[in-house]
Amino acid sequence: MKTALVCGAGGFIGSHLVTALKRERFWVRGVDLKYPEFGQTAADDFIVADLRNPSSCTAAVDRRFDEVYQLAADMGGAGYVFTGDNDADIMHNSASINLNVVDACYKRNVGRVFYSSSACIYPARNQRDPDNPNCKESSAYPAAPDSEYGWEKLFSERLYLAFKRNHGIECRIGRYHNVFGPEGTWTGGKEKAPAALCRKVAEARNGSTIELWGDGSQTRSFLYVDECIKATLLLMRSDFEGPVNIGSEEMVSINALARTITRIAGKSLDIRHIPGPVGVRGRTSHNGLIREKLGWAPSAPLQAGLRPTYAWIAQQVERARGCNVRRAAE
Ligand code: NAD
Repeated sequence: MKTALVCGAGGFIGSHLVTALKRERFWVRGVDLKYPEFGQTAADDFIVADLRNPSSCTAAVDRRFDEVYQLAADMGGAGYVFTGDNDADIMHNSASINLNVVDACYKRNVGRVFYSSSACIYPARNQRDPDNPNCKESSAYPAAPDSEYGWEKLFSERLYLAFKRNHGIECRIGRYHNVFGPEGTWTGGKEKAPAALCRKVAEARNGSTIELWGDGSQTRSFLYVDECIKATLLLMRSDFEGPVNIGSEEMVSINALARTITRIAGKSLDIRHIPGPVGVRGRTSHNGLIREKLGWAPSAPLQAGLRPTYAWIAQQVERARGCNVRRAAE
């Protein structure tokens, strides 16, 4: 039986990845600071541990796993990453995790390590035009990410590649672009744009107004979590090491995203633009390399993933409302 370790298995993508690996009949260990928030983990073994701690990391990587997926990171949406208030934590926490994980994997001679990098590594200078951003893999250098989160991701990409060069560790690096779907963070400050907008729309009364950060003309693309998992597994089992974009090329403005979600909800809502952290003006995946090397592209349009995501978040909103009403009555 093949074995896999998923670091960050209590998180959004990590918990979906564990389920996919179980479907493939892997024996799976998950490790995270916490269990998944919205359901049971499918992992055979789950260790609650802090990967910033080298000894916890050594304990988690206690054998020669066939596959290790490193998704643990201190991360969040624009409200967490782009305000500047969390920069020291983001850099120190995530760098510590990666330094420990790569070393533990090397010492156990694991089969292969996947590292989840991000579109945030791309230079700010190529993302000023909302209609024409450049996020080709080859544009990453000279480096100039617009956030410390992006700089840490770039540092860690280089860390895994240095271990490959000097110690022969097999690594695969995917640069995720805005992944969304059910069972992701949808409230509390670390949620990203699709989840935050689904929540705002679900909470709004028909005919009322929702607030958007910035003027809403900033553009992004969004990848449904099932597509992300498929691409991750494909990259992991291929001979191509990356770094390679894992994202969608269907670029939309945040205003358009809000309108689409409002339509899915069957509501009529106005939008008020308010000041807030927005990140770069334009960003979308460039999929030339992944198409060439892996023959992969997303299989469905954005709308297809937004429907189940909205339905799930609307259900969470209803549940939270029910709890508040019960609490008020007590
Ligand atoms: P997530 O926040 O849901 O998952 C990350 C998990 O890491 C969390 O469960 C968290 O508890 C865990 N973690 C944090 N610090 C830890 C520590 N010290 N020890 C152990 N576990 C720790 O995020 P996600 O959306 O599932 O993202 C997974 C990975 O993909 C992250 O590395 C993220 O940077 C990267 N990524 C995600 C996106 C996206 O759109 N979701 C985009 C680009 C890159």
